[in-house]
Amino acid sequence: MTVLDKLSSQQAIELEEKHGAHNYHPLPVVLSRGEGVYVWDAEGKKYYDFLSAYSAVNQGHCHPKIVDAMTHQAKTLSLTSRAFYNDMLGKYEKFATELFGFDKLLPMNTGAEAVETALKIARKWAYEVKGIKENKAEIIVCENNFHGRTTTIISFSNDPVARKNFGPYTKGFIKIEYDNLQELQETLESSNNIAAFLVEPIQGEAGVFVPSEGYLAAAKKMCEDHNVLFIADEVQTGIARTGRLLATCGNCTCEDKNCSGTPEVKPDILILGKALSGGAYPVSAVLANNPIMNVIAPGNHGSTFGGNPIAAAVAIAALQVVADENLADNADKLGIIFREELTKFCKNNHLVESVRGKGLLNAILINDSEDSSTAWDICMKLRDNGLLAKPTHGNIIRFAPPLVMTEEQLRDCISIITKTISEFK
Ligand SMILES: *Cc1c(COP(=O)(O)O)cnc(C)c1O
Repeated sequence: MTVLDKLSSQQAIELEEKHGAHNYHPLPVVLSRGEGVYVWDAEGKKYYDFLSAYSAVNQGHCHPKIVDAMTHQAKTLSLTSRAFYNDMLGKYEKFATELFGFDKLLPMNTGAEAVETALKIARKWAYEVKGIKENKAEIIVCENNFHGRTTTIISFSNDPVARKNFGPYTKGFIKIEYDNLQELQETLESSNNIAAFLVEPIQGEAGVFVPSEGYLAAAKKMCEDHNVLFIADEVQTGIARTGRLLATCGNCTCEDKNCSGTPEVKPDILILGKALSGGAYPVSAVLANNPIMNVIAPGNHGSTFGGNPIAAAVAIAALQVVADENLADNADKLGIIFREELTKFCKNNHLVESVRGKGLLNAILINDSEDSSTAWDICMKLRDNGLLAKPTHGNIIRFAPPLVMTEEQLRDCISIITKTISEFK
């Protein structure tokens, strides 16, 4: 067997079963090619991708401009480590900090690493700037959060599957209810040792929970009043997914399409990943202003691959595509159509209870118990009918297509979804 040998779907699945750790439970479909909003399986069947690799492929599969930037850089210089400078990283840092409106960027590779980075920065800031006594800093997080799977991050998860038998757990986290301002206020008042509040603008993995209007702005204000850092994990919601470049832009009315002006909620620390590379390469980042980021000194933090020239070139291209193709506006427009059509559909269909979301990050709630297989079975039928989606938690199906989708394609997808569910037994 060589890397060029063609495998059937069945063979590919058997190989993973036998030789790979079973840390995922994929929908049984084996993809071998992607372009724009489409993917093809090993037998050549075409599907709409309605997951976008958990919102990493916002710019569509194999976007030619991103692939060009990546292949050009791969042939020129791929990795230097940060032991030496490279001539791409600074360019990327200038581009991204100007776009998002922060002084500095710290480059990492994966979302979980970027979250870890943000937590380390917040703790160091707490000791060196805020003046909390060493080892006393606490960070507020939300119930049902998803921030990745490292040992520290699962320490403050409340998903038993992610947590059980991975202890002992990292200390220093206080969990409060999501979208509950009163509990946030009480927690902020309960202690002088609070460094930061870490929050997802929309809880994606938990099932696309959109907080109440004004929640993020009010939470940010409370944090400010208590000299506590507001950390937004926009790994899934960022990069145009929710109809704005960032979900924390909320309802800002600035004219700038890229919204680098005056967002409604400007986090103290912004965490990005996934679509920061358009899915071409693992690229993540933490952004903050000087008074926060300058607590980091040589040796405090790093990664061999973080900030490598390929990642830098890919990220610039990926962000440029989002702006050039107005992907935030497109996500906003198509999201409205999607929710309108599915809301209409829900009224006459007993299987779908509701639809919710923002931009093109949406979910439907299936009218069945959380441990039923109904959502999974519907996803299997959607697969048969040429559309790929996956349940998040039990009875919730997330719908997050690439943002390069056209209205015609979206309407085609809506008809596949409604027809599949109508015929479902
Ligand atoms: C996916 C995700 C992460 C983790 O990113 P990885 O690249 O998988 O480590 C963190 N936070 C949020 C909100 C995510 O959706």
